[in-house]
Amino acid sequence: MPLSAKRRAALSWRTLLPWVVGVLPVLCGLGVMNWQIEREMQASSQATTRQVVAHVEHMLDSLASAANALLPLAGSPCDEVQLRLRAEVTRNAFVRSTNLFRDNSLYCTSLFGDFDEPVNSADYVDGKLWLMDGNSVTPGHPLLVYRASAGNHGAISTVDGDHLLTALRLIGPDVDLHIRVGSAWMGKDGIVHKGVPPAAASANVLLGSTRYPFSVQGGYAVDHQGALWRSHYPALLALLLVLGAVAALACRWQLRRANSPRAELRRALEADEFLPYFQPVVRKGDYRWAGAEVLMRWNHPQEGLVRPDLFIPYAEHSGQIVAMTRALMMHTAQSLAPYAGLLEDGFHIGINITADHCSDLRLLDDCRTFLQHFPPGRVLLTLELTERKLIEPTPVTLDLFEKLDAMGVKIALDDFGTGQSSLNYLRQFKVDYLKIDQSFVAMIGADALSVHILETIIELSAKLGLGIVAEGVETEAQRDYLARHSVDYQQGYLFARPMPAAQFLSMLATQPGASRLPQGAPPEIMRG
Ligand code: C2E
Ligand code: CA
Ligand code: CA
Repeated sequence: MPLSAKRRAALSWRTLLPWVVGVLPVLCGLGVMNWQIEREMQASSQATTRQVVAHVEHMLDSLASAANALLPLAGSPCDEVQLRLRAEVTRNAFVRSTNLFRDNSLYCTSLFGDFDEPVNSADYVDGKLWLMDGNSVTPGHPLLVYRASAGNHGAISTVDGDHLLTALRLIGPDVDLHIRVGSAWMGKDGIVHKGVPPAAASANVLLGSTRYPFSVQGGYAVDHQGALWRSHYPALLALLLVLGAVAALACRWQLRRANSPRAELRRALEADEFLPYFQPVVRKGDYRWAGAEVLMRWNHPQEGLVRPDLFIPYAEHSGQIVAMTRALMMHTAQSLAPYAGLLEDGFHIGINITADHCSDLRLLDDCRTFLQHFPPGRVLLTLELTERKLIEPTPVTLDLFEKLDAMGVKIALDDFGTGQSSLNYLRQFKVDYLKIDQSFVAMIGADALSVHILETIIELSAKLGLGIVAEGVETEAQRDYLARHSVDYQQGYLFARPMPAAQFLSMLATQPGASRLPQGAPPEIMRG
């Protein structure tokens, strides 16, 4: 329902909102999914790291068992204990070699027997564990060494770095894992480095053993999160997109519905935004105000005062015109009733009605309620009927018109001469007045054919005994022409434009011969 051209700002947020509503669930969903993925990664990194710790502890248990079994032999001559050293290697799955030392010197090994190499307890974290990058037998090949000591002698057992590497690779194939022993660490490259291993891009976890002085660091590389997205969530992602689209469409539909002419009219009706404007109708001879036509105006909160031709067609189409007219009649009665003293007896009040009003008898109640606001005989209610929607002469309508007539309500045929059914209406319903359409009045003095039609209508009304009202009188020439042809009533800008109730009452009070001014009439009405 375009009420004016200035609706750009409202339009832009209406266009934007469905996008926001559509994108929001997708973003929220992506956020939740991302959070879920991060949680999963954290949990999996934690579990993998814990498994590696447990596995290395298991290897070290083997090493510790061998070293502790040999510890009482430390200090004994090598040739006496060498076989025991070898037996421990054989007995323990992870043990690669066993050794004995005394006075900071390694003097016996399972591999060579007698040996001589310095042992420095400072190399061992907590005096127990050393991640070596190789020894004299296998230089450059990692070894994890366990040392059990009592005083200045003790036993040493080793596990091959390959066991560690296999554990790292098999337990967490897609996790970045590093074993840290003191300042040495080893990752999946199988090389022992010094310092601190690089932190993983995400789900970084550092878990220390409670039994041995080492820790394992785990986490995921940068691209792992993306890979998880691609492998785990395509179906959910598609569902989210569909949900977003549905939400956006639903929002657009709701906005359109809320913004539909029907919803807008309902809102306006509830907000009491429809006002009566009054245009005086003058009588022949003295041109005094004999009545007024009530014309609806929409006092729109944004658009200001809206003309009826911009919204009445929608109201008629949706059937809301009936409720709107009822509210308008109530408004009119409440505005005029306190100043009924300004109205002469039989003052015409014209209300525009449409075919919808004629389909049931509720119009009777509306008219009765309207008239009850005024002293009897003060107001002559006239219903103005147009041919925009045809009225069918059903038993209900015929009954309605009869009862209206009995109540003293008059019927005027509006815009007479412009429709095809004007004459039909005259035959079927009891009509009291003809309102000559303003297009004929405008042709006075200009178009011979229209003037002929005008004269024919005037003659017809006289023959049928109908009152006649000419609308749209704008010039004195038109007024005088109509006066010469004894047209009963005239209405038009020449006399007055439609105006709000206060102005109408105030001008009415200054009409010559205005009497019966009400007690306590407001000053603006008295001023005129
Ligand atoms: P209408 O019933 O034929 O009302 C007369 C229209 O002519 C009014 O326009 C009035 O302002 C205008 N008019 C009066 N004198 C002159 C004049 O000298 N020159 C010109 N050019 N125009 C003049 P308005 O108020 O804009 O109403 C337009 C139409 O809207 C009305 O035509 C009527 O059909 C409809 N309307 C207005 N109020 C209501 C209502 O409450 N209910 C219904 N159903 N229709 C209404
Ligand atoms: Ca009218
Ligand atoms: Ca008219």
